[in-house]
Amino acid sequence: MKTSEIRSTFLDYFRSKGHTIVPSSSLVPSSDPTLLFTNSGMVQFKNVFLGSEKPGYVRAADVQRCLRAGGKHNDLDAVGYTARHHTFFEMLGNWSFGDYFKRDAIIYAWELLTVVFKLPADKLWVTVYHTDDEAFDIWSREVGVPVERIVRIGDNKGAPYASDNFWQMADTGPCGPCTEIFFDHGADIAGGPPGSPDEDGDRYIEIWNLVFMQFDRAPDGTLSPLPAPCVDTGMGLERLAAVLQHVHSNYEIDLFAHLIQVAAGLTDTKDLANKSLRVIADHIRACSFLIVDGVLPSNEGRGYVLRRIIRRALRHGWMLGVRGDFFWRMVAPLVEEMGAAYPELASKQSFVEDALRTEELRFGETLEHGMRLFDDIAHKSRAGQSGGIIPGTDAFRLYDTYGFPVDLTADIARERGLEVDMGGFEQAMNEQRERARAAGRFEAKGQMPADLASQLGPTVFLGYEALRSEGCKV
Ligand code: ATP
Ligand code: MG
Ligand code: MG
Ligand code: MG
Repeated sequence: MKTSEIRSTFLDYFRSKGHTIVPSSSLVPSSDPTLLFTNSGMVQFKNVFLGSEKPGYVRAADVQRCLRAGGKHNDLDAVGYTARHHTFFEMLGNWSFGDYFKRDAIIYAWELLTVVFKLPADKLWVTVYHTDDEAFDIWSREVGVPVERIVRIGDNKGAPYASDNFWQMADTGPCGPCTEIFFDHGADIAGGPPGSPDEDGDRYIEIWNLVFMQFDRAPDGTLSPLPAPCVDTGMGLERLAAVLQHVHSNYEIDLFAHLIQVAAGLTDTKDLANKSLRVIADHIRACSFLIVDGVLPSNEGRGYVLRRIIRRALRHGWMLGVRGDFFWRMVAPLVEEMGAAYPELASKQSFVEDALRTEELRFGETLEHGMRLFDDIAHKSRAGQSGGIIPGTDAFRLYDTYGFPVDLTADIARERGLEVDMGGFEQAMNEQRERARAAGRFEAKGQMPADLASQLGPTVFLGYEALRSEGCKV
């Protein structure tokens, strides 16, 4: 089944169960300062859960474009390393706003997967929140899942990809216990079942999360009950497509096959499983949709996340031997793949191409020099006393002179078994900020007319502070 058919089959199923089909919202949350990007389907319904907005329906379903590259949910560092993580992905979701609850949510999900999509029931595992006996009993007694394949899971203990059956969109806001459905891709793939010590492998892949939204978390961590218990579900379209198309990795599904082929052509790469091709194919989706949703590369906030993702993609192209521009040429094939589902992508094609090309030309001027400097630094770190740690001052030089975001430097370092001294980088960054402040004071006093100075304010680089306050790793 092609990805496009999976989208429509999902929506048809929930339409037949009385759900109103709603459009995907933007990757940029409309008025939510707690969130950098839309990271799940529930984001556009946050105020409905909280009770301050009444949408005129109590059941809804959609296909939501999501980005997990900053804030509480950040999968940027997993891309290229796991079979199941993207920065940009599509989330299939259904909701009940004070209407049905655990039982129907579970029964619908099971029926859709095993009857409509015909997944073999014996390859599905489920998890429930460790104290949720009600969900456990529905799975075991009503659905008939053998108890050996129902796992009780608590809260995440901090491991980035460990199972966690208490879902929250951000550090504050709607949240609740959840139950998740996993697909076993088979014994030839490394990894243990959910809850086991080696669950982070890619054998048992989580496909669907059903959240029982019951609480609103305040900034001090306290939970208060929502006006009505709700259901919020999210299933990764690409992960379901991988299962239905009998492939293991999301990057092998129909939608990615074309993008990867084009990337291979543009970079003259023979091995279609090359990790860099996957990263490039992932990043063109994230970057294009961010630009469609109004974000442009810049040095702060969302624009800086976009810049970081573009520069990572360009560096992967460089690693494959590209010495000119190539990345913006991936927009046309992306439009061929996704323009029908997202007309806004098709209509903004040339705008997206221009924005990417401009950034590509700009970074192209310094990438090569930066890579040469990186090689020198890496050589010295390995040979010297620093024990494979790249000093913060060197990472800062790459950032300041060659436009290497520090996460890009860290990513290159990781590939070579090195690490960046992040504390040292921040210190170098702070010192530069101080210098900028001092220079600003001098200028304001010495040269600028007072009224103009008060209009302009001091020039301070806020990018990292803004990102860090969002909980981003920078
Ligand atoms: P994982 O544990 O694999 O990182 P998750 O528990 O973080 O996934 P949820 O927050 O529960 O994911 O999101 C709901 C669903 O969205 C997941 O079950 C999965 O199918 C899909 N999903 C989540 N993150 C990604 C991603 N980075 N790329 C593709 N699909 C994703
Ligand atoms: Mg995750
Ligand atoms: Mg998970
Ligand atoms: Mg999950």
